[in-house]
Amino acid sequence: MTTRRHFLQQAGLTTLALSIPFSDSIAQALGKEPKVLRVAIMGLGSYGSRVAEAMKDCGRAKLVGVISGTPSKIAQWKEKYGLSAQNCYSYETVDQIKNNKDIDAVYVTTPNALHKEHTLALAKAGKHVICEKPMATTAKEGKEMVDACKAAGVQLLIGYRMHFEANTLDIVKKQRAGEFGKTLFFQGLSGFVIGDPSQWRLNKALSGGGAMMDIGIYSINGARYLLGEDPIWVTAQETKTDPIKFGEGVDETITFQMGFPSGATASCLSTYSLNYLDKFFLSGTKGFAEMQPSTGYGPIKAKTHSGPLEHSHVTHQTTQMDEMAAIILDGKQPLIPVNGEEGLKDMRIVDAIYKAVKTGQKISL
Ligand code: NDP
Repeated sequence: MTTRRHFLQQAGLTTLALSIPFSDSIAQALGKEPKVLRVAIMGLGSYGSRVAEAMKDCGRAKLVGVISGTPSKIAQWKEKYGLSAQNCYSYETVDQIKNNKDIDAVYVTTPNALHKEHTLALAKAGKHVICEKPMATTAKEGKEMVDACKAAGVQLLIGYRMHFEANTLDIVKKQRAGEFGKTLFFQGLSGFVIGDPSQWRLNKALSGGGAMMDIGIYSINGARYLLGEDPIWVTAQETKTDPIKFGEGVDETITFQMGFPSGATASCLSTYSLNYLDKFFLSGTKGFAEMQPSTGYGPIKAKTHSGPLEHSHVTHQTTQMDEMAAIILDGKQPLIPVNGEEGLKDMRIVDAIYKAVKTGQKISL
């Protein structure tokens, strides 16, 4: 069998090439430039801006266009990133993107409750969609998005940047290889103190919920990739100290528990009222892994029973976009999936957590 290393040695390529995705190496050995994913960003806010900056360092993804409701931002971005006028759209003109052969995919970084309508419009226009988390505000919406993209023959990926982070992947590989023994407990703490009470994150119509939608979803997702299985039940409890700031349907703090087929359990906290909460802990019969911070922009700090992990920090969104280009263009299979079905699994759990809060019952999944 030709391993990647063997192939590169035969092709006379250096060890440097080992850090480049396999398909890129083949393309380079054949003297071809690897294909680049041409991306437009929809919603030029704080996160869209972060992704745009990170993409400057990508080898396989390039920012080529925007979709925005704010003409002054379009003008700034055109100038800053050298975008052509034909690749800039408003939400009203976005259906015209179907005639644009210079855009392969659109990265949706608008408020949560708009993800569904934006994804459906882009699928209809025949563009691959990368959609931010949470993929939607309910599993029902998420399912519609998955179905629409499937029907249109386009890929739907969710912006789970941690799925490509080196320390995270190392721990996932160790867990799958049995280095921690039988992993029977996960703890996830996800929270920060949210500021401006007038922001969309505290407006149910745009956010779909509160801290759970925004930050608690990291603990849900982290429990799944670190334990390597999906929960079969949840229980949850809500507390609210400020019902003015956190109105009806906007959760401030939820503690929740998940049970898994192996017998493992997860105990998690999601909150908009405490800082210094970005921690994962995984406990097994032979060892443990601890990450703090575990999902922030990094550097991620991780250790196991054998000592600290030393993977160097790379801007998460740079790695994510290069890897997503390989998924979309080359059919690469990531170790932890990032497709619409993966986002939908998290949305089903979010739905169940809200139901558990409301009913006080243990909810089966
Ligand atoms: P921002 O408010 O900073 O930006 C959202 C942008 O969406 C706005 O600037 C605006 O851009 C556009 N928009 C369209 N309609 C509306 C509307 N009705 N109200 C407000 N904005 C609107 O939000 P973020 O960038 O922080 O978050 C965007 C998404 O990214 C969310 O889903 C969030 O969960 C996710 N996110 C993910 C992170 C991660 O690490 N993966 C981190 C942070 C956020 P324009 O003026 O161009 O139309």
